[in-house]
Order: sequence, then structure tokens, then C-alpha cells
Amino acid sequence: MNKLNNVKAGTVAIIGIPFDEHSTFMKGTALAPQKIRGALKSDSSNMCTESIVDLSAEPQFLDLGDLNIKNYIDDIEQPIKNILEKEAFVLSLGGDHSVTYPILKAYGKKYKNLNILQLDAHPDLYNEYEGNIYSHACPFARIMEENLAERLVQVGIRTMNPHQQEQAKRFNVETIDMKQWHPSFNPAFNGPVYISLDMDVLDPAFAPGVSHHEPGGLSTREVIQIIQKLKGPIVGADIVEVNPRQDPLGITAMAAAKFLKEIAGKMLPSGGQSLVPNSQINIP
Ligand code: MN
Ligand code: MN
Repeated sequence: MNKLNNVKAGTVAIIGIPFDEHSTFMKGTALAPQKIRGALKSDSSNMCTESIVDLSAEPQFLDLGDLNIKNYIDDIEQPIKNILEKEAFVLSLGGDHSVTYPILKAYGKKYKNLNILQLDAHPDLYNEYEGNIYSHACPFARIMEENLAERLVQVGIRTMNPHQQEQAKRFNVETIDMKQWHPSFNPAFNGPVYISLDMDVLDPAFAPGVSHHEPGGLSTREVIQIIQKLKGPIVGADIVEVNPRQDPLGITAMAAAKFLKEIAGKMLPSGGQSLVPNSQINIP
């Protein structure tokens, strides 16, 4: 990671976490950061959010490059801590979902009353999976055990099982599964919010480039609306589980880049407020 000296208070720092060692079913998510960056910078689109925040003109929108990970916990937690010490915000590109635990170790120490909004097909609450307590099926069990967040709200879940249901009860997780999902969902938080966005929350029709295809998920537009409607200051986010080996057309990387823009726009000091006055259109 370079350019740490350029990070100031309020900077939205993009970092890539090319790490998939704790994936269970299939490797490949370590290749995601460069593919998502490629989609973000592709000439096929521009760098504006839908609220017309032009990220290419934002000096506080900064790409710090990729982390070099030899030690799963320390080599993720420490660089995140260094960024947070500057009162900046991290928007990371995974990697598999195991990266969220070391990220939240840094966040949990910085923010005492952190709320997590996890968008995911899976609860990722296993106590251990195939003998590995750091599996990408386990990060939110570790996070809640260590009290790194005050509240965990999970949206898009459609793979709950008895063990994870027990874990959800134990940690007071608020689950909005796909069975109860309704587009009127209006996420509101009193304190700082961290978004953990597992791309398999999307229906495989919208995001085939993930390791675990789980039918019956959200649409790309529904996830964008959740981000846009979210109330509460967003202090960090990760976008995980893009698997380029499953994404020959790059559709999933492009959806990840779209979410990155919408989240970054809301994290920046301009607050993602619409810059267009009177943009309300009356439809007869
Ligand atoms: Mn996950
Ligand atoms: Mn998942």
C-alpha cells in the first residue's frame, strides 16, 4: 500500500485485498481487486454517482493500491488502523468474506458504537467451517464474539440453517431474509454504519461472477436503492466475493464498481447530496 501520506481526514481510501485463502468451495476472489478497478475506470462508463458526485474530480477519493498479505490478521488490520488514525474512511475490495474480520478488528477499536449492514446470501455465522474458525463462512461469528459491533443487520439471507440460526440468536443478529424482503426496506441507524457487501446477495442472474450461486436474490437496482436510502453516516465498507473466474463477461465486476461509486459518493464530505437543484421530475 502506498500514498498513505496523502490520506487526510475525510478521505475515502480504496484498498484492494487480494486474498482468498479462507474460501471453501472455490478460489479466485483474490483476482477481484484489479478486475473491479478495471470496471471502474473502463471507458464504457463514467465516474459519476447517480446523485452526480463526480469521483474523478474528488481529491478526497483516493486509491491506495493493494495490500500485501502474508499474515491474515495483522497484514489487514494494521494498514486499516493506519488509515483510520487519520480520520479517513476505508472502502476495500476483496477478496473473500474472511477479510471483513481483520478489517472490523480495526474499526471496532476506532468506533465504539458501530452498526454493520451486511448484504449477503449467507449469514457467515458458523462457529467453524471444515475445521477453520477463519473460514469465509465464519467472519461475523468472530466479529460478534469480540464485540466489535453494537448491531449487526443482515439483509438478503437465503441459506440459514439451524446452527447459524442459533448463532444469530446468541449474537442478537437482526436478520432480514429474502422470504421477508420487501422493496420498502428502509435501513436507518443512529450511529456510524459499516457496509459489508457480499456480491452473492445479488441473484446469480445479475451477478454470475461469485463462487456460490444462490438463486432467489436481490436485483442490482434493489441493492443500489438500499445504499441510496440508507440513513446514518457510512464510515467504511467492503465489497467482497467477486470471483473473476466465474465472470467471463465482467458483469459482476461492473456491478461491484457501480456499488463502489454509490457507496463512495455517500461517504465523501459532499455527502452524496444531489448536486442538481430541483431535480424532482413530475411524471404526469
Ligand atoms: Mn459472505
Ligand atoms: Mn455470501
